[in-house]
Amino acid sequence: MAENLNNYKLVDKLAKLTPYDPIEGRFDIRLDANESFFNLDADVKAEVLEKIGQIPFNRYPDPYAKGAVKAFADLYGLDEKYVTAGNGSDELISIITSCFLNAQSNIVTLAPDFSMYAFYGSLYEQKCHAFGKNDDLTVNVDEFIKFCKDKDADMVIFSNPCNPTSCGIEKDEVRKIIEALDCLVVLDEAYMDFWDQSLLDEIEKYDNLIILKTCSKAFGLASIRMGFAVAGEKITTALKAAKSPYNTDTISQVVTETVLRHKEMLYENVNTIIENKNYLLIKAIALRDKYHCFETVYPSKTNFIFIKTEKAQDIFEKLMKKSIAVRKFTGYLRITAGNASENEKLLFCLEQIISEY
Ligand SMILES: *Cc1c(COP(=O)(O)O)cnc(C)c1O
Repeated sequence: MAENLNNYKLVDKLAKLTPYDPIEGRFDIRLDANESFFNLDADVKAEVLEKIGQIPFNRYPDPYAKGAVKAFADLYGLDEKYVTAGNGSDELISIITSCFLNAQSNIVTLAPDFSMYAFYGSLYEQKCHAFGKNDDLTVNVDEFIKFCKDKDADMVIFSNPCNPTSCGIEKDEVRKIIEALDCLVVLDEAYMDFWDQSLLDEIEKYDNLIILKTCSKAFGLASIRMGFAVAGEKITTALKAAKSPYNTDTISQVVTETVLRHKEMLYENVNTIIENKNYLLIKAIALRDKYHCFETVYPSKTNFIFIKTEKAQDIFEKLMKKSIAVRKFTGYLRITAGNASENEKLLFCLEQIISEY
């Protein structure tokens, strides 16, 4: 080893960080990341490849991803002037948190909720306050609003329906939150394609609202990085000014535009995913009743189910040994709906494991 000539020190907030580490290794069945189980079908893939073949690879991408944005806006019946493309919605969360707030600003989120909200908040030296959900993982909205005001929130951010709980807040309750607060409200609708309580078509009504969408879940495009922020013109202009100029690459733009034009395929796939999720949910509830190992199976509005069990760690490890990856939290399991054979294999292994307790 060469001698260390400098003595460079990382700032504290970085010294304590460890890189994001999704489950390592190869598994026969991946039900840990809430991806779609549909890969692109052969026709659409051929179309995508053909379009990629026409890309001028020596040129920078369109800074506003206009083709992808137009396809996204058409899919939801939105005006494209309200839409900003991001390198995954993750990048959009990062831009919003760093640029729309100051260091020491107050962020309010829910607990449990998507961990990236607090992650970026701490990276940008903000104060993150989490409002605890009820035992059944519902949210007392009036208390939540009070909490936001007490904490002098500069930004409120949560997912609906929620990752990881799979539960949802009805839209009149969400409206109540937006209308009661003057601060920025970021509503992450990553999973709203699996439920019917979206506020996307009300975006014009609110000048303090950003709705986030992603191509990684319902649309089966987790391999590319593409997410969208939908907001009124004031916020959208600021977002486009604050993002890095070439934040989404041409390949991702082309893939997104091509795939999002296949509306019927997307709707069909989403319906099948919901059916498979419902099947998984019903079977998990039956396992709960039969073995009393699952304390609660939550009512899912997403493409995954969420289970409360003291055996979470043990079940997680035993499933891994059978080459099935699910997501484990302390005392909970989150399992993404797979295709029919993946779900059968999972349910068979789950029953085998919990019948031995
Ligand atoms: C998966 C997920 C995202 C991230 O989406 P990307 O577009 O892949 O960055 C954002 N929010 C929630 C709640 C998610 O579960």
